[in-house]
Amino acid sequence: MTYIYDFSEGAKEWSDLLGGKGANLAEMTALHLPVPNGFTITTEACKDYLKESSGLNEKLINEIRQHIQSLEQQTMKVLGDAEDPLLISVRSGSKFSMPGMMDTILNLGLNDETVVGLAEKTGNSRFAYDCYRRLLQMFGDVVWGIDKNKFEDQLSFYKSQKGYTIDTEMTAEDWQYLVDVYKGIYMETLHKHFPQNPMEQLFHSVEAVFRSWNNKRAKTYRRLHDISDDLGTAVNIQEMVFGNSGLDSGTGVAFTRNPSTGEKGIFGEFLINAQGEDVVAGIRTPQPIAALKKSMPEIYAEFCEISEQLEQHYQDMQDIEFTIENKKLYILQTRNGKRTAKASFKICINLVEEGVISKEAGLQRITPTMITQLLHPVFEEEALKAAVPFVKGLPASPGAASGQVYFTAEAAKAASDRGEKVILVRQETSPEDIEGMVVSEGIVTSRGGMTSHAAVVARGMGVCCVAGCEELQVDEFLEQASCGDVTFGTGDVISVDGTSGLLYQGSIPKKEGEEQELLNKVLDWAQELSTLEVYGNAETPEDIQTALKLGAKGIGLARTEHMFFGEERISEVRKMILAVDQKGLRKPLEQLKKYQKNDFKEIFQLMEERPCTVRLLDPPLHEFLPKAEREIEDLAIATNRTPAQIRKRISELAEQNPMLGHRGCRLAVSIPQIYQMQTAAIIEAAIEVSQSSGFSVVPEIMIPLVSTDKEMSLLRKQLEETIEVIFELYGHRISYKIGTMIETPRACLTAAEISQSSDFFSFGTNDLTQLTYGFSRDDSAKFLNEYLNLKLLPSDPFQHLDEKGVGQLIQQAVDGITASKGAAQIGVCGEAGGDPQSIRFLRKLPISYVSCSPFRIPAAILTIAQEEIKEQAGKLKILNKLIKEV
Ligand code: PEP
Ligand code: MG
Repeated sequence: MTYIYDFSEGAKEWSDLLGGKGANLAEMTALHLPVPNGFTITTEACKDYLKESSGLNEKLINEIRQHIQSLEQQTMKVLGDAEDPLLISVRSGSKFSMPGMMDTILNLGLNDETVVGLAEKTGNSRFAYDCYRRLLQMFGDVVWGIDKNKFEDQLSFYKSQKGYTIDTEMTAEDWQYLVDVYKGIYMETLHKHFPQNPMEQLFHSVEAVFRSWNNKRAKTYRRLHDISDDLGTAVNIQEMVFGNSGLDSGTGVAFTRNPSTGEKGIFGEFLINAQGEDVVAGIRTPQPIAALKKSMPEIYAEFCEISEQLEQHYQDMQDIEFTIENKKLYILQTRNGKRTAKASFKICINLVEEGVISKEAGLQRITPTMITQLLHPVFEEEALKAAVPFVKGLPASPGAASGQVYFTAEAAKAASDRGEKVILVRQETSPEDIEGMVVSEGIVTSRGGMTSHAAVVARGMGVCCVAGCEELQVDEFLEQASCGDVTFGTGDVISVDGTSGLLYQGSIPKKEGEEQELLNKVLDWAQELSTLEVYGNAETPEDIQTALKLGAKGIGLARTEHMFFGEERISEVRKMILAVDQKGLRKPLEQLKKYQKNDFKEIFQLMEERPCTVRLLDPPLHEFLPKAEREIEDLAIATNRTPAQIRKRISELAEQNPMLGHRGCRLAVSIPQIYQMQTAAIIEAAIEVSQSSGFSVVPEIMIPLVSTDKEMSLLRKQLEETIEVIFELYGHRISYKIGTMIETPRACLTAAEISQSSDFFSFGTNDLTQLTYGFSRDDSAKFLNEYLNLKLLPSDPFQHLDEKGVGQLIQQAVDGITASKGAAQIGVCGEAGGDPQSIRFLRKLPISYVSCSPFRIPAAILTIAQEEIKEQAGKLKILNKLIKEV
């Protein structure tokens, strides 16, 4: 197996072997685009290097030599040639883009001799010595680990002595002087010289790029983005083209569509007379790409044409790096561009509507995380109008955030660990800041453009960011920032609007972001393909409305105990609990029925004829009793008792294991009146809404925590009797269903028997997980982390359904139900119903819906559609294979 491929050999599909950058350079070479010549050392070579830990092996060294020779032939230049030297770049590039995480070395091949040749050949010794000092700096930092600040400090010191403010004021002699200073840093720090032999420079650099796969920031990035540590990086070696060779040159980065909004059209930045690193690192603030149209119109037109070609070819928005060297355009990189969630939706919808991709392909590009990000917070309009911004920067990543200011990533991380909401404020960010950025609500930088590190990374993470706030003087050392008469320091609260780029003092109230139209369109496509419906878990009118707006086709779980809270209601509930006889029970129950009936009427009106499952009271009664002494005294007065009597009743109701105690349907076995009251309220509400609105409301009444068929048949009988009384009273009958929640292992094992008295079934995976493992839902956080660290569990089973154990019980229950009843109405309403990973398992069962909290609904709908598409594609593949075989 060969370790190296020339750019003319690979293709975009080879990203495993050539890394994303290498594969795309090969693809662009095949498209005859103006890509500088070069070759790629494979990820396999990197993996062997990291495994062998004995330096570059012979085979690789030989292949590098051979490929350098052919590069010399292609470019008609020779590495190390004193008159017209070949200069190369050495860049990392793994399968998945890890912006700025690994290392790059530019201008390789320069030394004391070739720098003179370059100066003469270009007639520009200022440029040549600038290139040389950059090589010294990058090589020193990346290859031999010399602190880059040592170089930066010398440059700043020199400039200040000369009274210069910007690098372009440096003359050839200045750079030449600095080259000597930089060489001195090598001697002073390492007691060795910068290697003058270009092949030696190259071998060292390749090793350094390989090693950078395992540097701390790359590892952190991979951990945060779920990228495997085993992939290794490729190394791209390419002829240098120089954006810093004069005013006819430049470098830039552009997207084929706006990465913040998704609007079609070239969006980017460039810098005249600069090298690519200047743009990415945010050292100089670039100009918008429109400026290129003015200064070099032909180049701009050529670039637009290539961008269009690349977008069509890759069928996605591209992020393109380019360099202009003496009025000649070169494309250095293309990749699918990172974008905000809003832009992801917009681009996906536009590409489908433009006929570039199918709806199915479009749906595969949306992720649950993008949906979460789309529903980003924004500041409340009125509050925002009243607030006065103190500075404006670039709107780099949308969203709104308020929090306490910190000036270093470490301080931000520590504050976030203490539970504070954090805004990270820096001059610019670098990959080392990643851990601080990830925990921040918002990020502000005073330097850098829309493609600077801060902007790109924040957009990727969905963190709101204002970049390039140039009027803001940020002093990281003094931990202070100021603009005009506004000054703030560590711990002060500011608000950041990533959509407008404005900063405000103090905190501004937020509301959840809404991009309903974009979301609806994608959800409509997804729902066309789904075989499994998604319902919402909700009981308040607001939550039900949110659930419906986000695509719920029904309510799978309205928890009635949530309607027992509220000042007036809780006091009736308490009176009910304290009652000792029938008479004492009746009054509070009557009062509660009034509340509940009104609630149910509201719910049924909102739901119209959509399915709506109401669950009867579930938690242990003591949860409703007062804890504070003052509340106990108030309750004593309200119920004509002494505080001592109340305390006695509270202690009677206390349980050792309340989760395993007097709760769920067990409450109804000992106090049937509670479920009877709730059922009466449900049926009366359903009749009244049916009569007044003309909808035919079919209420579904669900009994929780059932373990035996006898429990279920007893309770069903009691409820049916109540319902008959109501029908007689109203002189009106309606259809209804009585169903079982399946939440205990015994219910799973005996589901066939339980199903005899049940019209429908809903798995409560929260309790089922608790009872299957014997892990308390309330206390498992204390030990689960240890289980995860020691890999005793693959994940938190309350988050992702345990397929092996809990899943097996669910499967058994479903088999029992279908064996005894045939096709039945079966759903899932525990948290697993909203978790994409669990849904992938659940959808394979013969169930008709999953139900989850409102904000999880869109991701659930999307996951189901994506699985459906994958399954269909799989079937099609098999079919094609069979056809071929026939
Ligand atoms: C469950 O147990 O999964 C469930 C939905 O009920 P609750 O969370 O209310 O106990
Ligand atoms: Mg439960």
